[in-house]
Amino acid sequence: MSEKSKVAIVKGRMPPDRTEIDRMVREAVNLTGGLKGKIKRGDHVAIKPNLFAPYPPPISVDRRVIASMVTMAREAGAGRVTVIEGVSVGTLMKRVRPSMTTCGMSRGFKTSEVMRILGITKAVEEAGGEVMGVEDAEKVEVNVNGGMALHRVNYPKVVLDADYFINMPAMKTHTMTMVTLSIKNLQGLLDERGRYYSHRDDLQQHMVDISKIRKPDLVLLDGLLGMEGMGAGEGGTAVEMGVIMASTDTVAMDSIASMCMGIDNPLVVSTTRLAGHDGLGTSNPFLIEVVGETIASVRKQFLLPATYTLPIDSLVTGLYPNIDIYIGGACSACWLMAALAEGLLAKVPQRVSLIVGVDPKIPPQLKTDLAHTFFLGECALATGGDLLELRNAMQLAGYDRFLAGCPPYEQSLVKLEDILIGMGYLKPDELVEKAAKHREEFFNYYRKYDPTWEPEYETP
Ligand code: SF4
Repeated sequence: MSEKSKVAIVKGRMPPDRTEIDRMVREAVNLTGGLKGKIKRGDHVAIKPNLFAPYPPPISVDRRVIASMVTMAREAGAGRVTVIEGVSVGTLMKRVRPSMTTCGMSRGFKTSEVMRILGITKAVEEAGGEVMGVEDAEKVEVNVNGGMALHRVNYPKVVLDADYFINMPAMKTHTMTMVTLSIKNLQGLLDERGRYYSHRDDLQQHMVDISKIRKPDLVLLDGLLGMEGMGAGEGGTAVEMGVIMASTDTVAMDSIASMCMGIDNPLVVSTTRLAGHDGLGTSNPFLIEVVGETIASVRKQFLLPATYTLPIDSLVTGLYPNIDIYIGGACSACWLMAALAEGLLAKVPQRVSLIVGVDPKIPPQLKTDLAHTFFLGECALATGGDLLELRNAMQLAGYDRFLAGCPPYEQSLVKLEDILIGMGYLKPDELVEKAAKHREEFFNYYRKYDPTWEPEYETP
């Protein structure tokens, strides 16, 4: 009989210092068999941490956990250790820097900046490694063998060529995938276009297919601080977990980690279920051996995102007195983006119409004028008949209120912000202030855990 997949759980003292983190990382990796004989002298090791945004844990992986892993790899004989990541689309396109005075596309942060701000670059280099942003990495076009939703992608050569590959996720809930653990973490290896286009209803299968390109040899999960609620960014809330987990089986890791987050049946997480189905590892928790701590001894009941606990229409329709929403057949991605667009449109003092999805029905006369009518997503933009007439009338009148894309993802929200700024309903200052508030909340929270940390921002 073949051996069961193992997942190691190591609990530590909170808040942890570097020595405690080092101990936890070593213990977790050693409980899964260690690195001896796996990393050979002179090998090249690639590490992919979750660095979602220019915010510290729980939004991004702790730099000290990454540094401990780099040190371990070097001690095992690695000649070169590369820490590679591509930040989220929202970070590239729309997160706001302290010095921002104007809006516009691509105002966000590159991965290399996020690594510097979080202190990752310094910590990795001191531990004997190097950092690389996916935007700056050499990419090769690869076929995804066995890919269901993903068939050909640009992928960083440095990961393909590495002798040993370590996936280093955080432990967070996610509005579009319920949780983001090791399978979802690999999305950051796609180039910017790949990251953008994967956010549709087939997102989960996309994520699973990425693991088919280069299966990680080891997963090391930073569960010191987890995130619950409307993750995986500023909408979520920190949960003190105090664990580091390790496994050589990506799917087994996600199965057990989601149970530690209070999800009793880990197969409700689509990425875990699909990855098990596609033969990438063991998803059934009864077939997985948990070593170190037990699940029960670390388990906390994470609040799931409202997108998984409430009917999606309750987050979108009938919420704001000034918004009339006309929604046809729409994927969950368009429902979610409609909810986010409404958050911005709610600031408009006048009535607005938002038109979304395949073939939405509109009355002969909208309650809004052309200037206050918005289309969201390719489906709404491709619908003919009355909607085509309406779009023609808007274009003739000079109103570009068309938020394109499938899905109409972060770039649509950036465009909407720009439109509202142009209409005088939103000021760049408001965006800067909102970002500053989030930044201070997360920075202050994290400083309690790591008093040695300060962000390396540019001078505003
Ligand atoms: S534009 Fe259409 S296909 Fe694309 S995410 Fe929206 S509803 Fe789905």
